[in-house]
Amino acid sequence: MKKAIQGGKPLRVKPFPRYNSIGDEEKRAVAAVLDSGVLSDFYGSYGERFEGGPQVRALEEEWKSAFSVGHAVSMNSATSALYAAVGALGIGPGDEVIVSPYTMSASATCVILYGATPVFADVEEDYFCLDPEDVRRKLTAKTKAIVAVDLAGQAADWTALRSLAKSRNLRLIEDCAQAPGARFGKRWAGTCADIGIYSLNCHKTIQTGEGGIAVTADTDLAFKLKLLRNHAEAVVGGMPNPSPDLRRLWGFNFRMTEIEAAIGRVQLKKLEGLNRQRQERVDYLNSRLKNLPGIIIPPVRPGSTHVYYTHMLRVDPKTCPLDRSALVKAVNAEGIPVSAGYVKPLYRLPVFAGRKPKPDCPVVERLHFNEVIVNTLIYPPLTHQDLDDVAEAFIKVLGNA
Ligand SMILES: *Cc1c(COP(=O)(O)O)cnc(C)c1O
Repeated sequence: MKKAIQGGKPLRVKPFPRYNSIGDEEKRAVAAVLDSGVLSDFYGSYGERFEGGPQVRALEEEWKSAFSVGHAVSMNSATSALYAAVGALGIGPGDEVIVSPYTMSASATCVILYGATPVFADVEEDYFCLDPEDVRRKLTAKTKAIVAVDLAGQAADWTALRSLAKSRNLRLIEDCAQAPGARFGKRWAGTCADIGIYSLNCHKTIQTGEGGIAVTADTDLAFKLKLLRNHAEAVVGGMPNPSPDLRRLWGFNFRMTEIEAAIGRVQLKKLEGLNRQRQERVDYLNSRLKNLPGIIIPPVRPGSTHVYYTHMLRVDPKTCPLDRSALVKAVNAEGIPVSAGYVKPLYRLPVFAGRKPKPDCPVVERLHFNEVIVNTLIYPPLTHQDLDDVAEAFIKVLGNA
């Protein structure tokens, strides 16, 4: 069959259905909040309402028990949760923080907000997460923390990162925006660092439109997170014995509303089932793609589970009959919207340009510009027939390359 990119008939013309995790239960939960008239119930000063309204507090309780963690602090986004995490850990001017270049921008910009210096370390070619060996090479006497991302749906190498942090007295932040419900050994992803953050934005497997959650086992950090999301006025607003290290905390309004919290409670109940449905679809698709020439199916980290926020594939330039860009263009022409690469390595953003130290991350450059293909067509209600179209497009393009 002639390839669509050469003027042949595209394999698929029908658009794929969109992902939508929202249903009647969320509608009823929102209606109940509206009926109550209480859309948010936060006070900045210290007291019961410092912790927010009933939906916010219930979501936090349920998040804590779902992920077996001591404290959960809801926010209006994961970006806000990252900012609050950096602030709560007392990171500031003169401190260096190791960050990943292959992630959404906030996982690295959170450091700049507090005047600290982001230092990019490279990623692992198999898992796309921070490479602990390169992190070790980039440590200096000024390194204070590491922000590692559980990219695409599976955890970073927290065994190595935790042991590095222990031996060098570093703090750890886990950006788990893409991997809620994934396991890392005996732990849940998101609970492997001093502070973990989750996203509930509209692109994630479970969502509240916009929203985020920070978790920690540490009571002092949890309290600082709560201060930071809520103006940090309680320091002079009736809080008993504010400790001296609160003086550098400037607060924000990062508060989640009751509407989002009510939706989040319903969504959290659906998480496990939604993750399972993605895993089933990826397994099926992988079974159809695994023998194609030049296509690498990235492994799942031993001892971990993968919840597939995205389905990352790689091209092996040595054996693939087409280069990555040509392959993606040809598959797109067949009506299958996969992408070449994820986001450009973050140090290419203007906000990081010209900063020292100069980034040196050859693996992410190679992965992003020559090897990675991102497929998001792994969600319910896609059927095996839909997934067959995805696989057949690769087979058609590579079969007669
Ligand atoms: C989505 C995402 C964020 C930010 O989430 P928001 O809730 O939109 O602020 C941060 N990090 C990663 C890795 C993400 O995928």
